[in-house]
Amino acid sequence: MIRRCRFCESSLDWSFVDLGYTPVANDYLTEERIRKKNYPLLPLNIRVCPTCFLVQTTEDVDPKHIFAPDYAYYSSVSESWLRHASDYADKMADRFALDATSRVIEIASNDGYLLKYFAKKGIPVLGIEPATEVADKAISIGVETEKEFFGSKVAEDLANREVRADLMPANNVLAHVPDIRDFLAGFSTLLKPEGVATFEFPHVLQLIDQVQFDTIYHEHYSYLSLIAVERFCAGAGLRVFDGETLPTHGGSLRVFVAHESAAHKPTERLVELRALETAAKLDKHETYAGFSDKVQGVKSSFQDFLADCRGRGLTIAAYGAAAKGNTFLNVCDCSKDDIVCVFDRSHAKQGKYLPGSHIEVLAPEELPRIRPDILLILPWNLKEEIMTQTKVIREWGGKWAIAVPQVEVLT
Ligand SMILES: [Zn+2]
Repeated sequence: MIRRCRFCESSLDWSFVDLGYTPVANDYLTEERIRKKNYPLLPLNIRVCPTCFLVQTTEDVDPKHIFAPDYAYYSSVSESWLRHASDYADKMADRFALDATSRVIEIASNDGYLLKYFAKKGIPVLGIEPATEVADKAISIGVETEKEFFGSKVAEDLANREVRADLMPANNVLAHVPDIRDFLAGFSTLLKPEGVATFEFPHVLQLIDQVQFDTIYHEHYSYLSLIAVERFCAGAGLRVFDGETLPTHGGSLRVFVAHESAAHKPTERLVELRALETAAKLDKHETYAGFSDKVQGVKSSFQDFLADCRGRGLTIAAYGAAAKGNTFLNVCDCSKDDIVCVFDRSHAKQGKYLPGSHIEVLAPEELPRIRPDILLILPWNLKEEIMTQTKVIREWGGKWAIAVPQVEVLT
């Protein structure tokens, strides 16, 4: 167990929540691996640094293990995420006057879901993505991609080849990085003097307020606030000059970062965001101390809901074999006796089993065969989209449910 802050090395004296031993969330299992019990269980104990207020895991799981070469997450599977990416490309190209002489280098570029929108505008792009299968997908649609874990060494290699960036998007990656200092040093190396990096990350303020404990899993090493990120940047000769809240992933922040010496002026929005976090007491122990009890409350109310459904003979299935669903089901001690299967559009996951709960993943085309009375939407942040995609359940009177921050049945 790590007892010191992964950023500032202070003693991790404040507890946030201990979710016990759980499997690695994106490690979908075959029948054979279940039979051989061939998968690790790792502690998921989250603590808070009282100095820099970084909420963090205390187990350094090797990212090479988590982001295995067959890591099955494809950004392009989610329609709402694609819209978000397209809007981002429009706004950034406009605001920072990007053109054929600029370069956009995206960190954790996945299957090219974002860079393709810049490429369409004639702006040179480069992706950096360690998961080989998704990186190959990006390359196949013409998005040049380096198959690497980003950090100071990769950045220096690129800089030595005269590759520098005007814009460096890093969406939903900062939380996945075990060595934050080394990661930020890479931005410092690659950004041109007036270059801008943008980091998007789920806001820990929403995690706390909305009891989003299911967003906690091993590959999320950090749960971030503006307070913490401003400290990280200062440590790398960078500074945040703008920030905004976004509805993605249940409430995210997007921060704009430049070199300390760059001309970008701090915005009014940034001042407001700082004030929001201060008002929410994100720098106070009490804000973090009560979280564990809130999680217990969600867990017991969901277990009551399951018992009630069982008593009425209802069939419950789930939708969305995403990482957050795995944490949720494992923390709530669910098995296939509670939830008959989980539907997911990703071909890579179909026919496999969720780690821990061993619930089978089926294609959504099988909904009419299973005919669930309740379809539990695990990625609650995509509930409207999923309800539209699965409206077939209305034919037999099926209803949807979400369980975070409390059980809610949707019709
Ligand atoms: Zn710290």
